[in-house]
Amino acid sequence: MQQVALVTGGSRGIGAGICQALAGQGLAVIVNYRRNADAAEQVVQSINRSGGNAVAVQADISRPDDRDRLVQQAFDWQGRLDVLVNNAGIAPPRRVDLLELEETEYRQVLEVNLNAVFFLSQAVVRRMLAQPGESRRVIINISSVSAEFASTDRAAYCISKAGMGMLTQLLAARLAGEGIGVYEIRPGITATDMTAPVKEKYDRMIADGLLPMPRWGQPEDVASIVAAIVAGHFDYTTGQVFYADGGLHIRRL
Ligand code: NAP
Repeated sequence: MQQVALVTGGSRGIGAGICQALAGQGLAVIVNYRRNADAAEQVVQSINRSGGNAVAVQADISRPDDRDRLVQQAFDWQGRLDVLVNNAGIAPPRRVDLLELEETEYRQVLEVNLNAVFFLSQAVVRRMLAQPGESRRVIINISSVSAEFASTDRAAYCISKAGMGMLTQLLAARLAGEGIGVYEIRPGITATDMTAPVKEKYDRMIADGLLPMPRWGQPEDVASIVAAIVAGHFDYTTGQVFYADGGLHIRRL
């Protein structure tokens, strides 16, 4: 039976790379997006043209009604869901010192990057547990090295990703006995629309030795880890944190 994956924020960047990798591995893929219907459709068409099976579903994961509809459509499409990749996320609307951060900006980031992920995961797991079949299911959270790197001008983002770290541990502990593995991937500096506005800054930092592996990360660097987890290469693990960061997290002296 063909496995089915839901990738939030699959229309662009890392999420699009994950959709392509999972489709290449034979999964049917639901490409969720918020606004960019054209980009989502391009991902779907590229997968379907190469013999895969994908569909786009619009839903803003921070809206409860959209989440309910997304979960319903995800399970209805092929009658099952095996993999949830919580990838959708937003950068802070502006980089500002944490003492100046406005409450609305803080809440906006937490709502998408953390609260929505909690409630979407909860809704998906409830349905997964009611789904007949013995196959191993997987949830993968795309957090960030910002879960542990303090950027004082991106406080809400860092807090949201640190929260995702604990969410991963909580879900992993709760769901291990249910046959659902839960993982976290922490990308480093990755070339997508999200980092385009700060490209020159990171180009300079990488040239100055920030990364042990001196290059930008690509969406494929994250997607290949997702694909390996879903392929079952780590089945006696759960709660694992994978870094896709060129060694950025290593403390160096
Ligand atoms: P991106 O290029 O900005 O793409 C973001 C994706 O998320 C888009 O598909 C977007 O949909 C979707 N999205 C945003 N808000 C959404 C919402 N409320 N509901 C549903 N979908 C939503 O971002 P990216 O760089 O690929 O980042 C993907 C994930 O990796 C994020 O969680 C990010 O925090 C994390 N990450 C990125 C980096 C990096 O350096 N790029 C590093 C570490 C972690 P639309 O196309 O419709 O807007």
